[in-house]
Amino acid sequence: MSSINVYHFMPDKLNLYGDIGNIIALKKRAKWRGIDVTVTDVKETSGLAVSEADILFIGGGSDREQAIATQELFRIKDEFKAAIEDGVPALTICGGYQFLGEKYVTPDGQELPGLNILDFYTESKKERLTGNIVIESETFGRIVGFENHGGRTYHPYGTLGDVIAGYGNNDTDKKEGLHYKNLLGTYLHGPILPKNHEITDYLLQAACDRKNIPFESIGDNSTEENAKNVIINRLLSEK
Ligand code: GLN
Repeated sequence: MSSINVYHFMPDKLNLYGDIGNIIALKKRAKWRGIDVTVTDVKETSGLAVSEADILFIGGGSDREQAIATQELFRIKDEFKAAIEDGVPALTICGGYQFLGEKYVTPDGQELPGLNILDFYTESKKERLTGNIVIESETFGRIVGFENHGGRTYHPYGTLGDVIAGYGNNDTDKKEGLHYKNLLGTYLHGPILPKNHEITDYLLQAACDRKNIPFESIGDNSTEENAKNVIINRLLSEK
C-alpha cells in the first residue's frame, strides 16, 4: 500500500478547537484512495529529519504555549524553510501560522521571535477576532471555519481568499490566510479540513505528486458537503 508520512508538530501544545480533526480528515480521505497515512507526533525536534515528511502540520495554541513551541521549532527552522521552498505541502493554523513569520508581538508589547520562514509579522491586540468565517477562494471555492485570535497578520504573499463573513488575517484588508508554494497558513480552526475537503485533497495530492503516487478524484462526500452548505447559508443569512 502507498504511504504518506505526516509530521504533526507539538500536538500536546498546539491543539486548540479540535485541530486534531485535521489529521483525522487527512487519514480518512487518503484511506478512501487506498493510501496509508503514518502520523509522526513531533514533541521534540532534536535529530528530526524534516526532509522525510510528506506533509507538515502545525495547529494553533495560546500565546504561552506558542512561545514554548517556538523555542522547540527554532532548532529546525532552516530544515523547515528548505522543505517549504522545495514544495512540501504544509498546513499551519493560527498560532502555527503566526510563528512562520518574523515576529509575534503580544498585546502588552512583548516580541516573540518567529521562525522567519517567510517575510511577515503579526501583532496582537486584546480585542479578539472571534466567530464563524466564510471565505471565497479562487483555488478552493467557498471555505468555512471558526476563528478566535488576538493576532493581526500582515503579509505580501498570496492568500487563501477573500473574507465574505468574519475577519481573517486582520481587521482591515478582508483577506484570509497565506498561500506560498504548497504552504497554507490560516486562522481557520473548525477544524478546517473536515469542513473543506478541497483543502484536504490539495495537501494529499501535492504529497502524492511528489512521491509519484497516483491520486484519484473521489469527489465530495455528500454528508460533508451538505453540512458545509448549511453552515455557509446560515452565516450569510445572518450578515
Ligand atoms: N495566540 C494567538 C492569538 O491569539 C493564536 C491563537 C490561536 O491559535 N487560536 O492570536
